[in-house]
Amino acid sequence: MGGVLELIFIPGPGIGHIVSAIEVGKLIVNEDSRLSITYLLINDPAVREYTNSRQFHPRLRLLNLPELDEASSDSQTKSKLPEVKSKEKVDRQKPLVREAVAGITATKEARVAGLVVDMFCLTMTDVADEFSIPAYLFFASGAGFLSLMAYMRRLTDEHGADITEFRDSDEKFSVPGFVNPVPATVLPSAMLDKDGGSAAVMSSARQIRKVRGIFINTFQELEPKLFQSFSISNEDDLPPVYAVGPVLNFPTASEWKDSDAVEFLDQQPRKSVVFLCFGSEGRFSDPQIRQLAAALESTGRRFLWSLRRRGENQSGSSTAGVESILPEGFLERTKGVGKVVVGWAPQAAVLAHPAVGGFVSHCGWNSILESVSCGVPMAAWPLYAEQQMNAFQVVEEVGVAVEVRVDYRGESGVVVGAEEIAAAIERLMEGEKGVRERAEEMREKSAGAVADGGSSRIFLAKFVRDIRDNSSG
Ligand code: UDP
Repeated sequence: MGGVLELIFIPGPGIGHIVSAIEVGKLIVNEDSRLSITYLLINDPAVREYTNSRQFHPRLRLLNLPELDEASSDSQTKSKLPEVKSKEKVDRQKPLVREAVAGITATKEARVAGLVVDMFCLTMTDVADEFSIPAYLFFASGAGFLSLMAYMRRLTDEHGADITEFRDSDEKFSVPGFVNPVPATVLPSAMLDKDGGSAAVMSSARQIRKVRGIFINTFQELEPKLFQSFSISNEDDLPPVYAVGPVLNFPTASEWKDSDAVEFLDQQPRKSVVFLCFGSEGRFSDPQIRQLAAALESTGRRFLWSLRRRGENQSGSSTAGVESILPEGFLERTKGVGKVVVGWAPQAAVLAHPAVGGFVSHCGWNSILESVSCGVPMAAWPLYAEQQMNAFQVVEEVGVAVEVRVDYRGESGVVVGAEEIAAAIERLMEGEKGVRERAEEMREKSAGAVADGGSSRIFLAKFVRDIRDNSSG
């Protein structure tokens, strides 16, 4: 069998999960030449297109799981939240994963050293148990959210709490590793969802305790108190936690060289532009889009706005479809000062551009890491998933962001007024509360973490060593 070891990695559905899983996989196999990884990919046309059009590291192998007839599958819960639907989709893949793992373990070319799952696929730890393979968790959000999940599991299982009762409450929680009490208003909607969401989150939180190690896309210097709490008190008895980030996928110049957005930025002074972008799913209602536009115009600031309208799946950069919903004459009046990109913006390239001085963000974890790595302060406007929690962290705990509203929920339908948005943009661009200096400090620390001898490199080496040790035990 030689010393060759294989990891089987199951990323959650959707490209976002695959991209970071592949990036972190590269780091792992580069750390030890005897390791290779097979990814089991949940069947999805966009993922197939992405993986077919790229070359990957020779020790990363991608296998598409067979297609399931989704139309005939019943929903297990009444929940309408997309993250709950996503988890259900994963649950249905279990027999396919079992079959694929059986195939890989039967080949004998390499010994399977572990099954790696991301946070949406924790249910697959059952398959790891069946094959007596150690399971590992790739946690693609922050240590803060991990600590919150552990805390809420304890509150539920050991103190009999029903978390869904904290919806709209003014309760605050002393979550280990947080300096400030965490308000119930920033708990993820799924955690508060009586229609099955909360139960699904709790079931994942329980499965976390079964894995042999958790590697997180963060760096210790970003969340130092959380790492202290894991290593010193560790009230939840969590498995070892390794911070290996930031793991990012900055596009190469050839991927964005024709971008209108970057061309626009090239014409703008240093740190003068506020960039607005709300993740892969961030869409606004027409009234909210109008308030946002009015806010931008009233500040007179230079801006680059990646705009997506609720209910539509736009792509390309044409503004034709949105002109009619923006305030009359908006595009004309803001010409040269502002740029609207409809659909996907090359976010990482934009954040790395010297003209960008602030980022109005939905606070998805990757967006936070990208912003921090570029030293760009944020204005936090969360929409869904665990973003309210992330927003609370970057505003209150890390100090790299001002708030638009840390407890905003996309599904609420509430329209934030132009004045409130404009005031937040001003605070951001003026660098209120030292956010600009703090962002610069974090940029340096994030670079240090992934440099030779940095904290994330040390964690990565330890993680890979532990994988080897656990596989021989
Ligand atoms: N992204 C992008 N252009 C867009 C929207 C998103 O390049 O118009 C990228 C962004 O740079 C990040 C990822 O998509 O790498 C979004 O991940 P995040 O965790 O921030 O949010 P999610 O999409 O999962 O809500």
